Amino acid sequence: MEIPKRSGYVVVGAGIHGLSTAFHLAQELEARGLGSGADVVVLDKAGPGAGASGIACGVVRNNYFQPAMSELMQACVEVWESDPAAYAYNPVGYIALGAAVQEDDLTATYERQERIGYRSELIVGAAEVDRHMRSLFPDWRAKGVTICLHEHQGGFAFNMDSVHGLYGKCKEKGVSVLSGIEVTGFRDASDGTISAVETSHGAIEVGEQVVIAPGPWAKHFWALLGLPERIDIRTPSGDVVRDQPMWTYWNLQEGEITVDPLVFSTADGGAPPVIHLDTDAPLYTDEGKLITDELWGIYFKRDRHGVQGGASPLVVEGDVELDPYPQTTDVDPGFPDMWCAALSHAMSRFEGCRAHYKQARSGGVGAFTADNFPVFDYLRPNLYAILDSNHGYKMIGVGREVAKVLVGEHSALLYPFRYERFQTGDLHPVSSSPYPWS
Ligand SMILES: Cc1cc2nc3c(=O)[nH]c(=O)nc-3n(C[C@H](O)[C@H](O)[C@H](O)COP(=O)(O)OP(=O)(O)OC[C@H]3O[C@@H](n4cnc5c(N)ncnc54)[C@H](O)[C@@H]3O)c2cc1C
Repeated sequence: MEIPKRSGYVVVGAGIHGLSTAFHLAQELEARGLGSGADVVVLDKAGPGAGASGIACGVVRNNYFQPAMSELMQACVEVWESDPAAYAYNPVGYIALGAAVQEDDLTATYERQERIGYRSELIVGAAEVDRHMRSLFPDWRAKGVTICLHEHQGGFAFNMDSVHGLYGKCKEKGVSVLSGIEVTGFRDASDGTISAVETSHGAIEVGEQVVIAPGPWAKHFWALLGLPERIDIRTPSGDVVRDQPMWTYWNLQEGEITVDPLVFSTADGGAPPVIHLDTDAPLYTDEGKLITDELWGIYFKRDRHGVQGGASPLVVEGDVELDPYPQTTDVDPGFPDMWCAALSHAMSRFEGCRAHYKQARSGGVGAFTADNFPVFDYLRPNLYAILDSNHGYKMIGVGREVAKVLVGEHSALLYPFRYERFQTGDLHPVSSSPYPWS
């Protein structure tokens, strides 16, 4: 395949972030009279959606305890809402249900959402939550839930469809998206900038800037750029925790039950919000076998073939062979029993759903940073990195912010995600959620 010898902007990775950046950059260049989409090339060693974006459950929510995540997500939801058809976005809303231990976090999240104008409501107290959920799902029966954050924005999008939507927008703007081109290295200029991107098909000279959006391959690119595998982290209290791994891998456990999707409808026959249920009520299978009596959680949504969702991810020890992606073999063998029991715990309509469980092409590995939050930052004077710590299919608006940064603007939304935070102690607050991403 022919690749250009030179390009103004080289974007590595054709996932949600690479494509969103390329599209928005093309818009910015045009609007400012600085160029056009023809100055942008996106390279992917496989093709659009070959990474995490192509297997993401697609949940779009703003249930974040961290102010910076919440504000950034609000901007992302704005992008989803800007073209629901192209992005295959279903604005069905999102419900987070929690146990007593999560009340303070969810209340703080709700209060911030109120302040920033993100539409949601908070329901507190076991009886009140039960009433709210039964008004939507008359067979709701989950126990141990004392708080409910019902976000009226957000929902979910169909993973590959939204990737194709972005790909189409890139093509319309004249961006070249090249598949089957593996980036193998970067050529350094004497001033520390990147002068060329080396690929399996030859080098591309860089006119202006490089953006890397490699998803789970973040650690590989970190090493290519000569950045440290282990770092010291200053905590907000000033203590320094030494020698921490910059990257760890988690295996996201997801699955689906193949049922008539309409089985999962609201009382009035409408499309159900995405549901995330955490509770400390004991969890039993339909046959009465105890699965756990500790805090557990699941999420689920209506899909084209039934109901899809997941549970808390598993830490993967050591390094992971990412290719071919995704690696779904390490899923906890107990996951299907747990997830189906949890669905049945939530609503009686799911009783017996274990028989319909299907191990689909879902689940997979994510690369997480040392504090489990994204790094959005320049790692070289002309190389910007979108390393989303697996938060990010929902973060379609990050590319819009990055595009502004590339043309010289400051992004207050991206600033809290700079790499320097590990040195300065400007870390994000940690919630009581059992998930590494809430
Ligand atoms: C199972 C699972 C479920 C998830 N569910 C959700 C969810 O419900 N909601 C949500 O918001 N997020 C979810 N996520 C997280 C989300 O999928 C990711 O954070 C996001 O898709 C990352 O997007 P990206 O564009 O950075 O990376 P990717 O989509 O992974 O794209 C990176 C691309 O880079 C390419 N690439 C890699 N190395 C090279 C190289 N050397 N040269 C050229 N190209 C290269 C790859 O082929 C790939 O196409 C989930 C993740 C997983 C694994």
